[in-house]
Amino acid sequence: MKIIEVCLKREKYPIYLGYPLEEIGQLFIKHECGNKIFIITDENVSRFYSNAVRHSLENAGKKVDICVVKPGEPSKTIKTAYHLIEKCSQFGLDRTDTIIALGGGVVCDLAGFVASIYLRGISLVSIPTTLLAQVDASVGGKNGVNLPWGKNLVGTFHQPSFVVMDISTLKTLPEREISQGMAEVIKCGIIRSKKLFQFLLSTDKKEIKNHFDSIISECITIKKRVVEMDEKDTKGIREILNFGHTIGHAIEINSRKLNHGECVALGMICETFIAVQKGFCCYCLFENIKELVKKFNLPTKTNISSQKVVHSLLFDKKTKGGKLRFVLPVKPGAVKTGVEISTNDIISNWEKWQ
Ligand code: ADP
Ligand code: ZN
Repeated sequence: MKIIEVCLKREKYPIYLGYPLEEIGQLFIKHECGNKIFIITDENVSRFYSNAVRHSLENAGKKVDICVVKPGEPSKTIKTAYHLIEKCSQFGLDRTDTIIALGGGVVCDLAGFVASIYLRGISLVSIPTTLLAQVDASVGGKNGVNLPWGKNLVGTFHQPSFVVMDISTLKTLPEREISQGMAEVIKCGIIRSKKLFQFLLSTDKKEIKNHFDSIISECITIKKRVVEMDEKDTKGIREILNFGHTIGHAIEINSRKLNHGECVALGMICETFIAVQKGFCCYCLFENIKELVKKFNLPTKTNISSQKVVHSLLFDKKTKGGKLRFVLPVKPGAVKTGVEISTNDIISNWEKWQ
């Protein structure tokens, strides 16, 4: 077990990495989390893990209630949040008590949002159970729900009291979900860790699963350093985390089939190709990234048109004054931020990178 401390201006909290869920009750005693604990989870995760968490909390003397939502993005709505708030109230949850988010990014976003507004905010414990949520959503304190016309349009910043990751929860995670988490892992290597990038390239795919603890630890440490410098995402430092995400989001808006990680994989390839064309990095980096994307069964091609992507890019909240700002790779572990790229550059390179 390893503890990573996230140190923010007003608060700090630990991430317990490699902590068994069966013993989680001990942490709730240690952190004085109140008497009542309300667990928010989804059907798939609940099937495997809610009993273990419940028993451990009850053995630690806590009163526990669980609310199970439907898995997937459609649950991230104000309506579901309202339903959960009603349940918290019926359970008699007060300001000294705690909400647990037990699940992937959807559950963590939803439960984080509920914890941040119920009684003007109560304490939250995150237990991310997907690779994506472990490497990405566990640090940063962002939460939110979707509106019918866009994702994450309502939300807050609310830091957890602590985060618990039991790596063994990844054993039940479907392969496609592992792959989408690997897209964010690859991103971390490219933006900040040559060591991680090279490890991913040189290690056999099957062997990589045996190193999830150190891989996740490396990714969290990278994200934590960035977030510590730019907590509220106002200084432009967090921008480096957007590598692959500018094009990635535009693809995501236009695709029904691809998940977030798959879109980010495509975004990383496309953005790296543009970086090669603009002379920021060598062609071999483009080839290496493509090789990694293939290795983890992520897509390298899309039939979405450049026109659609450009249209979405121009409406993206990251667009400043109609100009497209990109994070481009320079070499493994290093990127350049704030590079202005024209829509023509995207359109003219669209076929070539694929
Ligand atoms: P993310 O944004 O992290 O991918 P989701 O909450 O959409 O998050 O989770 C993806 C899918 O994986 C959902 O169907 C969820 O129920 C399921 N899931 C999450 N964690 C696990 C796990 N440890 N084992 C099996 N299925 C899981
Ligand atoms: Zn992402």
